[in-house]
Amino acid sequence: MNEFALIDRYFESRARRDGGVVIGIGDDAAVCTVPPGQELVVTTDILVENIHFPAATPAADIGYKALVVNLSDLAAMGSTPAWFTLTLSLPEVNESWLEAFSTGLFEAAHRFGIRLVGGDTVRGPLVVGVQALGLVPEGRALTRAGARAGDLIYVTGNLGDAAMALDMLNGAILPGPSEQTVFMTRLNRPVPRLRQGQELLGMASAAIDVSDGLVADLGHIAARSGLGAIIERERIPLSDAYRTHLGESGWLPALTGGDDYELCFTLPAGRADELRWIARGWDCALTQLGTMCVGSGVTVLGQDGKPLSLGAGGHDHFSAQVS
Ligand code: ADP
Ligand code: MG
Repeated sequence: MNEFALIDRYFESRARRDGGVVIGIGDDAAVCTVPPGQELVVTTDILVENIHFPAATPAADIGYKALVVNLSDLAAMGSTPAWFTLTLSLPEVNESWLEAFSTGLFEAAHRFGIRLVGGDTVRGPLVVGVQALGLVPEGRALTRAGARAGDLIYVTGNLGDAAMALDMLNGAILPGPSEQTVFMTRLNRPVPRLRQGQELLGMASAAIDVSDGLVADLGHIAARSGLGAIIERERIPLSDAYRTHLGESGWLPALTGGDDYELCFTLPAGRADELRWIARGWDCALTQLGTMCVGSGVTVLGQDGKPLSLGAGGHDHFSAQVS
């Protein structure tokens, strides 16, 4: 199968062309319509085998996750997904792998309403790059920089389950079958908090998606906003599956583990009731973790109200630390 047949079979023939796609896959570049009053939000994330996902990851999950991690970035800006491109480096043309990969990719694309408009395909080590484009009303995008001292800090969903999945794959913990499913689903099929991000437009003062661990990512809000952040460890939302292993694993996977793809955001304290009202319609938990303050860095208070020492923050690809 040559490159063009491959693109047609697994990507071009499955791509939807509605939603502002003027020229899609098959030309030198795509052309898309940005509606008046909207701005384009652009993000890209690359997944490399053995670094961002274990080699044994099912191809459908790789396809799904490659798109969804980008959607999580669009969510953190408060934007609505519109279009994406796909850069694939493949060691070989493996048709059953491509079939599963493409199925997982389009499952996410259809679920979250985003259209594939182009890409590039080369031979090389397994690398999947996605660039996602979203739309946001002019001047309204959520950023990391807008938090004020006294703003409340929130997080959606539960934290740490994806890190627990990696601990499980490394043999550090041995969960029962139902916990294994919870952890692996969270690792391979994260949920981008798109609705939450969109509903936070005009509400949240700053936002970020938690991809490198809560402490590291909240640290970005703090740094960009020129403030410090204080959170209470006991408030961190954990799944029942995580709680089963809390004695063994402690809080570190929830505090510094990566791959959660929840939203962490700040809110002026006077709007807490309004937020609680909005969040009643959400399909995930909402938890207040703490408060932004004058200062710098992230302080985590333990059960006794004293600051904990965590060592180096979240996941960092250039340090020896393994998340
Ligand atoms: P060019 O040589 O101009 O870069 P290509 O031959 O690489 O064009 O690609 C042909 C068409 O197929 C282009 O429209 C490109 O966007 C699209 N394409 C290539 N690879 C992919 C892919 N993995 N997924 C979606 N579209 C792709
Ligand atoms: Mg090309």
